Amino acid sequence: MDTLQRRKRLVIGNWKMHGNQASNATLLEELRAGAASVGACDIAICAPFPYIGQASASLQGSGITWGAQDVSPHAQGAYTGEVSASMLADFACTWSLVGHSERRAMHGETDKLVADKAVAALSAGLTPVVCVGETQSEQESGHTSDVIARQLAPLIALGAQQVNRMVFAYEPVWAIGTGLSATPEQAQEVHAFVRKRLESIGASQVRILYGGSVKPDNAANLFAMPDIDGALVGGASLKAQDFLRIAAA
Ligand code: PEP
Repeated sequence: MDTLQRRKRLVIGNWKMHGNQASNATLLEELRAGAASVGACDIAICAPFPYIGQASASLQGSGITWGAQDVSPHAQGAYTGEVSASMLADFACTWSLVGHSERRAMHGETDKLVADKAVAALSAGLTPVVCVGETQSEQESGHTSDVIARQLAPLIALGAQQVNRMVFAYEPVWAIGTGLSATPEQAQEVHAFVRKRLESIGASQVRILYGGSVKPDNAANLFAMPDIDGALVGGASLKAQDFLRIAAA
């Protein structure tokens, strides 16, 4: 069996800070109705914190799993505004994104903090989806692999047992929400680099998603690449039919 067959595809929708109870109800119902026709691909959504309960109630038994877009590195205590991994587990979350580029850029999240959040998620039984990616200037100056290696370093230091329980997402910052997707070849090159780093510590079961302007019309070509195991989808995850078409690809 080759590695492609072993790694089941995974498509995760990142709703970011969009939606309200009424629009979510429609989107969740459409996802629920369409999920069965998608085939052998894991599908998940990461909702804003206040709507995780709504997602949980609506998606029970649908085959679609749900999660959060961030998690506290702390287990509990005086951390006003933070949400712990055990609180997410209490709502039957499967996933938490960690280190999304918007959080790294707007909230100053460091590589070490991202690794601490990943550990907190694992401790509560969640799967962290660790996002890495370079900015446009880092890409243009030829520093993509240095940046990715730096971002991966504190995660790699955790060892294979922990890393094998994570999912990674390569999201070039210049491709997020811009309509400028990496070409399948560009993305594959970085995915192969990430996989090599993970395999160097014996973490060989890890799914690596691509994120950055994934749409129904570019998904199939990206997913044809040997090291791309699925997608983290922002904008297109807010339209059920587009998101389901990406998952079907
Ligand atoms: C994202 O938010 O992780 C993302 C990839 O967004 P978009 O698909 O809109 O580029």
